[in-house]
Amino acid sequence: MTEVGTEQKIINWSWLRSLLKVIEDYRSVPQIVEKVKESFTEYLAFANTEIFIVEDVENDSDGKTYADKLASSSFFSRDVIEEVFIHKRPCRKSRDEIVLPIETADRILGLIYIKAGRNLDDSEYELLWSFVDHLAVMVNQILSPENFNPESKQQIKKLSNSIFNNLKSFLEASLERLKVLEEQNIQLVELNKTRTELINNVSHELRTPLVSIMGFSNILQRHEIKPELIKEASEQILSAGSRLSRMIDDLIQLNRASTKGWVINVEKLDLGEIARFVVEGLAPLHKDHKFTIGFPDDYPLIDGDRKLLRQVIENLMINAIKYSPDGGQIHCSISVDADKHELSLAVQDQGIGMTEKEHSRIFDRFYRAKNPKTKNIAGLGLGLSICKDVVEALNGRIDSISSFGEGSTFTVTFSY
Ligand code: ADP
Repeated sequence: MTEVGTEQKIINWSWLRSLLKVIEDYRSVPQIVEKVKESFTEYLAFANTEIFIVEDVENDSDGKTYADKLASSSFFSRDVIEEVFIHKRPCRKSRDEIVLPIETADRILGLIYIKAGRNLDDSEYELLWSFVDHLAVMVNQILSPENFNPESKQQIKKLSNSIFNNLKSFLEASLERLKVLEEQNIQLVELNKTRTELINNVSHELRTPLVSIMGFSNILQRHEIKPELIKEASEQILSAGSRLSRMIDDLIQLNRASTKGWVINVEKLDLGEIARFVVEGLAPLHKDHKFTIGFPDDYPLIDGDRKLLRQVIENLMINAIKYSPDGGQIHCSISVDADKHELSLAVQDQGIGMTEKEHSRIFDRFYRAKNPKTKNIAGLGLGLSICKDVVEALNGRIDSISSFGEGSTFTVTFSY
C-alpha cells in the first residue's frame, strides 16, 4: 500500500472528464487501469487506488468466481464484496475509503477501490460514482467484442436510419397538417370577411329602398302637391316597397335553403299558366319592357310546387327586368323534348348580359357582378342561388347562357 498523501485537492468533474477524455484513446483495459490509478494518486493524493477488472465477463456473468478471488485479496472482506456485487452500489468502508462497482447493463465488470488521503464528502462520492459509470462504458466496449462487430454497427446504422426516416415522415406529416390548418385558417378569415361584407351589403341594400320610401312619403306630406307628383311618389313608394319585400323574402328563403327547410306540396302543374300569371303581374309595372310569351298549343303538365315555382319564375323575370335597365324585350317560352320527356321554361332578355367570368359565379350565394352597369341595380346576390336550390329540390335543373352586352337566357327544366 502507498502512503497517504498530504496534498488536499478537491475532486471536480472537469478533472474527471479530462481524465475520461484521455483514457478514451486507450484501447486496452490494463492501459486504462494504469492511467486511472496514476491520475488519482497524482491529482487527489489518494493513499491507494486499486482497480480490479473481470476479464472474462462472458464466462463469469454472475461474477461468482471473481468474487471468490477478490475475497481472498487483502483489500476486500466478504461483506464488502457482497454489498457491491449483490446490491450493485458503492460500499463506504469509512469516510475516506470506498469500493465502487464498475457496472454496466446489470453486469459487474469490476471494482474500483479508492482510499483517499482525506475524508470524502457526499458530492465527491457522487461524482466518483458517476465517473466510474462512464469508465464502465469504456471498459465494457473493450471487453465486449460485439461492440466492435461490424454487423452490429450495421444494425445500429439501420436503426438510426429508420428512426431518422420516422422522424422525417412525422415532421412531413406535421408540416402537411400545418398547411391544412393554415388553409382552414385562411378560409375562416375569408368566411369572416364574407360575413362582414354580407352584413354591410344587406344593410346597404335594405336601406336604399327605405330611403326612397321615406323621401317620397315626405313629399306626400306637403300641403300643396300636384296630382302628377302624388302619382309619381306613390308609384316610387310601391316599387321601393316591393324591392324591400323581395329582399326580405330572399333572406327568409336563404334561411330555409340552408336548413333544407322547404315545405314542398307537389301537384300536377301547368308551368305556362304560372308563368303567364307572373308576367301579367309584372308587365303593368314595367312599361319600358316588352313582355312576350311563346308557348306551344299543347304541352305536358309537370310535378311541382305551385308557390315555389311561382317564386322561381318571378325571380328570373325580375332579374331579366333589373338587368335590362334600358328596357327591351323579355320573352318567356316553353319547349318540350319528347324523347327525353322533359319540359323547359326559358326567360330571355336583351339586357346587359355577363362576361364569362361573371357568368361562372352567378349561382354562388351573395355573388353579384360588379361593373358600372350593375352598380345602381339593387340586390343581395341570393335570388339565383335560391332558385337553384328550389329547382333541384323539385328534381329539376336550371341552366343559363349569357352574352356580355347582348342579354341572357335562364332555363328551368323538369321531367314529365
Ligand atoms: P341579385 O340580382 O340580387 O344580385 P341574383 O342571385 O339573382 O342576385 O343574381 C346574381 C347575379 O347574377 C346578379 O348580381 C347579376 O350580376 C347576375 N345576373 C342575374 N340575372 C341576370 C340577368 N338576367 N342578366 C344579367 N346578369 C344577371
